[in-house]
Amino acid sequence: MFPTLSGSETIEELQIRYRQAINELELVIQENQDNIARNMDLLDELTGRNKELQTLKDNLQDLVNERTAELGKTNASLLAEVETRKQAETKAEEASKIKSMFLANMSHEIRTPLNGIIGMSDLMLDTSLTKEQKQFAEVIKSSGDSLLSIVNDILDLSKIEASKLELETLRLDIRKCIEECLSVAALRAKSKGIGLECSIDPDIPEILFGDPGRFRQIINNFLSNATKFTELGQVSLEAELISDQAESVVIKIAISDTGIGIPKEKQDELFQPFTQVDGSITRKYGGTGLGLAISKQLANLMGGDIGMESEMRSGSTFWFTCVLRKNMDSADQPEQQDYPVPTSRQKRLNSVRVLLVEDNVTNLLLATKLLEKMGCDIQSAENGLIAMNILSKTRFDIIFMDCQMPVMDGYETTRNIRAGKAGNENKDAPIIAMTAHAQIGDREKCIASGMNDYMPKPLNRKMLSAIVDRWSLHAPSAHPVATELLQIENPGIFDRTAFYERVDGDPDLAQTMMQTFVCDMPSQLAEIANAVQSRDFHQIQQMAHKIKGASMNMSTMEIFHTAADIECAVERRDINNITLLMANLGSAFERIRVLFAKETGNKT
Ligand code: ADP
Repeated sequence: MFPTLSGSETIEELQIRYRQAINELELVIQENQDNIARNMDLLDELTGRNKELQTLKDNLQDLVNERTAELGKTNASLLAEVETRKQAETKAEEASKIKSMFLANMSHEIRTPLNGIIGMSDLMLDTSLTKEQKQFAEVIKSSGDSLLSIVNDILDLSKIEASKLELETLRLDIRKCIEECLSVAALRAKSKGIGLECSIDPDIPEILFGDPGRFRQIINNFLSNATKFTELGQVSLEAELISDQAESVVIKIAISDTGIGIPKEKQDELFQPFTQVDGSITRKYGGTGLGLAISKQLANLMGGDIGMESEMRSGSTFWFTCVLRKNMDSADQPEQQDYPVPTSRQKRLNSVRVLLVEDNVTNLLLATKLLEKMGCDIQSAENGLIAMNILSKTRFDIIFMDCQMPVMDGYETTRNIRAGKAGNENKDAPIIAMTAHAQIGDREKCIASGMNDYMPKPLNRKMLSAIVDRWSLHAPSAHPVATELLQIENPGIFDRTAFYERVDGDPDLAQTMMQTFVCDMPSQLAEIANAVQSRDFHQIQQMAHKIKGASMNMSTMEIFHTAADIECAVERRDINNITLLMANLGSAFERIRVLFAKETGNKT
């Protein structure tokens, strides 16, 4: 940077060059000083930023600490919440179990005395009573029936709400189910003077599989409402095949009436529990408002839907659809098949030996009387231990077994019988559970202990006789109906399918029953004709009832319905109608006589 001396240069020139150099140096120094000043500023700024950063860092730490504390608290309260929920869940499960137990007990506690009331009044009505006594007994019976149906509705709804209602998969004969429902509705329809019509799609398969009880329950509910809320006109039922798949079908049942109708604004709520359109109407017609809510749930459980259309003062149509299977999986076969009844047990009813194992005296008396009326030979035991002793000495055709009993309950007794602890004679005898426990799982429990069938209480004559029929006449090769017997078809006069099912396809038994019926009926017809002539309404009712029972057994439906109509007319003391119906009864019997003569090859 500094100039070097050269020989030709003067001092002045050298001084100038030095000054220039010094100036340049001063410039450089100035520049450096500026740089230093700038760097100092930068340093200051950096220090400031650093401080800011530190403050931010400190704040962040505070924030993190704060949030961590908050999170800790939230976590703790969440854990506490989870714990509370868990406890609540356990409590709810316990409550649900208690509710189920309560339901089971209530069902037992209410059904047992109801069983006594209904059964005894039914038996009382079969004895000779004064007109007033008969009226009283009828009121007791119908009140018992209503109470039972209310209890059943409440139990059903509770079971559905607790998701405890399971459907059965059994043989379901649509035509038979509908006919049974119509025969109940016919009584009310007739007494109100309204018509009852039915049309069934011929494409609907004869036999399907589903839950016949629940299927009938919806139809009965619709029919009961339709006849209840209709004063003039008619009620009609239509069964339609909606779709036909390889494994299943969808059926639609619609019931229309020409009754009071339902206002538009009420239609949406109808399928909610406890809904009734009008309090004053309810008081007039009765009901709990549960029927449609239960029907909706049942239709949904059956894979279907429910709906309605209605016009005020014109009438209503209630419909439901359901999926029914065409075949039954082997897994669905009733477990009672495990204990087939030996061929040697094929007997006539009047020699069926029955052991009744039951500790409740009312139930015992009722079952004894009902079975006696069927002509069974009965012995009883008040607990399992006594039953074991009796069974070791005598052979029985059917054992009716209560489940809850002191000393030895029904399950243990059954296991002991099956294990041969009461000897070999009754080791394979049909054992039928008789229990008021109408809870899910009860049937399975009975079957698992080795019982063959299950009969919920309250007992009634129809159910008991169906069970006795089924198990005392049981033949191992089911329904070998002779082909020529299938020729004549008119279920309105004679429901052949139902009849042969009842006799388990035994042609000999069928013939004997037909011959007996054709022999017995003329004297019964003569008796009722005499009663009509002498205007003895009590006797007319008795005889009509008797004829109705006999024809129900034979599935002679025309006679059955005419006898039922006579019973109704007796209630209204309508002698003109009775006289007309008597003519029908005679001609209906004539038709059956001819039909049975053909069926039995003129042996009647
Ligand atoms: P319940 O008949 O026992 O009261 P439901 O659930 O079966 O209970 O019916 C609820 C209400 O719906 C009835 O109270 C009635 O108001 C109305 N309802 C049902 N069916 C009909 C019908 N066919 N015609 C007129 N109203 C009906």
